[in-house]
Amino acid sequence: MRITKEEKVLTIITTDIICNKCGKSCHDIDGVNYEGVIEHELCGGWGSKVIGDGYQHQFSLCETCFMELSKTFVIPSLTHVPLKIYRDVKR
Ligand SMILES: [Zn+2]
Repeated sequence: MRITKEEKVLTIITTDIICNKCGKSCHDIDGVNYEGVIEHELCGGWGSKVIGDGYQHQFSLCETCFMELSKTFVIPSLTHVPLKIYRDVKR
């Protein structure tokens, strides 16, 4: 026999992700998905002189800001082109 009780559970739901660079919402045009959003956490390693030893950073970038940033890369980011059937889908 299982003895139960009713208990309310608090659930935290993400309602939006804001780009740290431009301050805009990372929602897609439909307001449903986060297309291309980058969420990243990093921590300065032992003796890090750039980030700082033990300093933690957490940020989000929208796809527009990522593409602007990627244009500054000395070595281009690796890009995979989707299959033609996906490129032909009209939104
Ligand atoms: Zn942005």
